[in-house]
Amino acid sequence: MTYRAGFDVGGTNARVQLFDATLKGVDRRRRRVRGATSPDDIAQSLTQLLVEVCDDNGVAVDAVDAVGIGLAGQLSTDGHTVHNAPNLGWRDVDFVERFADHLRKEQHLKSPPSIRLVNDLNAQLWGEYLGGAVEAVDDVLAVYVGTGIGGAILADGHLVTGADANAGEIGHSKVVIGGRPCGCGESGCVEAYAGGIHLERRVAELVDAADDEALAAVSTESGVDLGAADALADSHDQIGQIWEEATDYLAIIVANAATLLNPAALLIGGGVLDNCETFRAMTLQKTIPLILEVARRNLVVEQASLGDVAGMLGAADLAAMEVTR
Ligand SMILES: [Zn+2]
Repeated sequence: MTYRAGFDVGGTNARVQLFDATLKGVDRRRRRVRGATSPDDIAQSLTQLLVEVCDDNGVAVDAVDAVGIGLAGQLSTDGHTVHNAPNLGWRDVDFVERFADHLRKEQHLKSPPSIRLVNDLNAQLWGEYLGGAVEAVDDVLAVYVGTGIGGAILADGHLVTGADANAGEIGHSKVVIGGRPCGCGESGCVEAYAGGIHLERRVAELVDAADDEALAAVSTESGVDLGAADALADSHDQIGQIWEEATDYLAIIVANAATLLNPAALLIGGGVLDNCETFRAMTLQKTIPLILEVARRNLVVEQASLGDVAGMLGAADLAAMEVTR
């Protein structure tokens, strides 16, 4: 019996899900990685997670033949190197080689499994395509608004990766020339107006500037509660204005991408679109009419349904495809 593993590596947590050869979930584990995000720290954490989930389920580590690792960032086309992962602070790291080294040394594996890095949004879209909200829908535009804004494209049943594996970076589409600075180092990106971190920053500026009891409710010890801000968007003018501007820009970018690609489904997800109902409704109300009529006629909107399993499922399957190729 062979097994597959899918990882989801973020700046706060690393998760693993073990699957059998038919991609049925066996078990999962999670580990906090915040503050210990050097490539060797993460390689060690992933090794321990893999060993733990295998041991606890009576599976030999060398029975796992494919390991997919979903992470946010720019990756090499061969799925071995991380060119830039801002939330981990990595630049040009051959992570696959390092992870394989840890498995060799710590687990005495003569031949480590086939390991592949996968862009997190591609992994999530692929997971939802395999068994989630867009199961068997061959043409999909995925847009996730969470901390940042990410996207992925499925065309004719294939992920569109682009010449340098960077297709789908919808969050860094420009909406204002010389506009707000973005986490990518450039300015005027839609993410700088509608991404979660930027929405939080703008709401925090309001909270600091005004002595306003209604606004105090959105400010918690750990920062701005965007869900609470969203609940005020209809009644509080200034929050409403931020939401209007953010969803205007987001709608233009998403609608233009849908006009360009003519997908059968628009898949939406991410913390902001999942938890901020008003923000989501405003975005969709503005987006749909902006799509060219012939491209919108049969378009369906689906909300991601597998949660964080999607990325691990997608990454595991994409890695397994390398083994069977
Ligand atoms: Zn950007």
